[in-house]
Amino acid sequence: MTPIANHYILAEPIVAERDATEYVRLIVPGQGKLEGMTFSGNDAIEQSVRVILENIGEDPTREGLLRTPSRVAKMYAELTAGYHIDPAALINDAVFSVDYDEMVMVKDIDFSSLCEHHMLPFMGRVHVAYIPNGKVIGLSKIPRIVEMFARRLQVQERLTVQIADFIDQALQPRGVAVVAEGVHMCSVMRGVKKANAKMITSAMRGAFRSDPRTRAEFMGHVDRSHDHE
Ligand SMILES: [Zn+2]
Repeated sequence: MTPIANHYILAEPIVAERDATEYVRLIVPGQGKLEGMTFSGNDAIEQSVRVILENIGEDPTREGLLRTPSRVAKMYAELTAGYHIDPAALINDAVFSVDYDEMVMVKDIDFSSLCEHHMLPFMGRVHVAYIPNGKVIGLSKIPRIVEMFARRLQVQERLTVQIADFIDQALQPRGVAVVAEGVHMCSVMRGVKKANAKMITSAMRGAFRSDPRTRAEFMGHVDRSHDHE
């Protein structure tokens, strides 16, 4: 397998197409995790799904499809629940002061998301590393950060950048590195079917951007996680 380090791309910060405050109003204050959230139906979505079913030539009243609109509405509530997570509540009580300045890395975090161009899933793994500057975050929080951004309509580039920038702002570390590897159903199932093509994106901040050796050390860890595949 080709080492990722030879062909990764640096994701540049993406200019927000939509004002960030638009998303801020979706946050449920104090809701720091997805567990325990309930996902209810939505009449407008259910009606829209019925319209889709009719217009692809189906019969929304046949038995197998009767409850499909309500299932789909609840599914979208669940798959886009990341908009409602309160970032402050998510990291609450989990940032600790430490005297440790070596790389901290969490590898192989599974994610699944919905591409905003087709609303089809893309999924894969995220690898996150940072070099503390007096502060660390509880390890279990990093997968939660990934999930908060993955459970939205996304493009993989922005997902990668958002994870890096969030950790950068929360910990102000010496550096942050995020690599995401994703398989996109919109390319697997449609058009030129490239079932095994993985998209790889990365975002490097601080020392990971400025110091090639630090970046190489991180990419070496990422590549080693492929050895036992
Ligand atoms: Zn797509």
